[in-house]
Amino acid sequence: MPLVAICGRPNVGKSTLFNRLTESRRSIVGDEPGITRDRIYGEVEWSGRTVRLVDTGGVIPDDEALIPSEIFRQAQVALEEADAIIMVVDGRTELASPDRELARLLLRSGGKKPLFLAVNKADSAEMFAQAENFRQLGFKNVQPISAEHGNGIGDLLDEVWAALPPEFVAEEPEESLDTEETEELEDMDGGGDPLPGAQQPPDEETGTPERRLRSHAEHVPTETKVAIIGRPNVGKSTLLNALTGTERAIVSPIAGTTRDAVDEVVHRDGHDFRFIDTAGIRRKGKTKLMAEKLSVIMSRKHLEAADVALLVIDAIEGVAAADANIGGYAHESGRSVIIIVNKWDLMTKAGPDGNRAFDGGPIADKKVYEQQVRDALKFLDYAPLLFISAAESKGIGEVFKKIELVARERRKRVSTGAMNRFLDRIDFQRASVPMNKRVKIYYMTQAAVAPPTFVLFTDRDVKLHFSYERFLANEVRDSFKFIGSPIWFKVKSRN
Ligand code: GDP
Repeated sequence: MPLVAICGRPNVGKSTLFNRLTESRRSIVGDEPGITRDRIYGEVEWSGRTVRLVDTGGVIPDDEALIPSEIFRQAQVALEEADAIIMVVDGRTELASPDRELARLLLRSGGKKPLFLAVNKADSAEMFAQAENFRQLGFKNVQPISAEHGNGIGDLLDEVWAALPPEFVAEEPEESLDTEETEELEDMDGGGDPLPGAQQPPDEETGTPERRLRSHAEHVPTETKVAIIGRPNVGKSTLLNALTGTERAIVSPIAGTTRDAVDEVVHRDGHDFRFIDTAGIRRKGKTKLMAEKLSVIMSRKHLEAADVALLVIDAIEGVAAADANIGGYAHESGRSVIIIVNKWDLMTKAGPDGNRAFDGGPIADKKVYEQQVRDALKFLDYAPLLFISAAESKGIGEVFKKIELVARERRKRVSTGAMNRFLDRIDFQRASVPMNKRVKIYYMTQAAVAPPTFVLFTDRDVKLHFSYERFLANEVRDSFKFIGSPIWFKVKSRN
């Protein structure tokens, strides 16, 4: 999916524009209590094409005194990945020096990247006309808009969309071999009769020629792409060093698409683990605020290319709001997640004052601690949790094992027959969903792997009620596990 970046100095209306463009997209975990997030990334659908939008506003602090060129450089890092850039200025005020500086930077280093200037706050026809004055900044494409009222937005999107790289043909859902667990289930499966009159789902057990052909072509990928994500100072770089520095590891740096993106691949137990953008993992923000914002942007970027995310938490600090924020992105992205509680060594050693633990309390109990983490990250209830010490290289072998496990689990496929048997077993009375929010599910089938995605054929074409979806996901998990992976549902009405 192409990425469009919005940038500009503070208060020109970037967030208003961002929110207007992405308002139809409600985030899945937005309902979870305790999660507030900067909405940095979103999706926009326009003229039948969906594009990802990034608001780089978060990168530049509000205080103008804090805008040295270094910060623009950081903004540029975030922009490196964008296919097109919209710079926003305030049409009602004089150009400020950060406007000129940012424009210069974009025009100078934007290369062939399509650049657009949106002159915001053009709420009247007169203001619309005045937008022409802003051509002095040097942009060829200048569009007056009112992010608040919507004027000019359609024209802007038309132009931006037209400048994007051509669309690729949608990929076929990924296929994979059934794992042992699924096969066992299939053995037990007698193949339930579909409902009379129901549209027949593709039955994978009849061994149609297509199915047989596909089985031969299927293979389990031997490489797993891993993103190490988390707040600053939780120990991401230290963990990366521990993972790539083990004795059996052969590290091969592979040049990525961006200037400084380098992956490192570790061969271990017949499996390749590719750690995404290791330069990015080691990159540090100059100030605390910058580091924190950058860590969110980097985490998002790394998730994009990954199969599995290691969400690193600092054991001493516990789960902070930013951890939940980053974890929320991981959950939404459909990647498998492993929660890594790092610096566990500090929780079990005498603290500096001679007390038993770092804070003078009793030595931490893993069970109690895990419960606290689980309570704070409820939406990641499917993610395995590990206690490690990256600095002392303790628990690293277990990390590799879990990555391999969740990578396998996310590609697992349940046959339609087994699925329908499963559906028969569910006691829908147990779902705590109001009667009028219930839908009748005639049958369901797994449409894709990575993440496992199920299509529900129902009597009504409605969005699944949140708790209904949760109930179903739990049922699917009880029977088929899918350890570490989110489970997605799509609803298709038969009518
Ligand atoms: P990053 O910003 O997430 O990449 O964090 P770093 O890897 O740079 O680590 C931040 C600090 O925590 C450094 O001083 C590390 O030495 C320290 N650290 C990382 N992992 C551990 C650990 O397992 N135990 C202890 N005691 N310190 C750690």
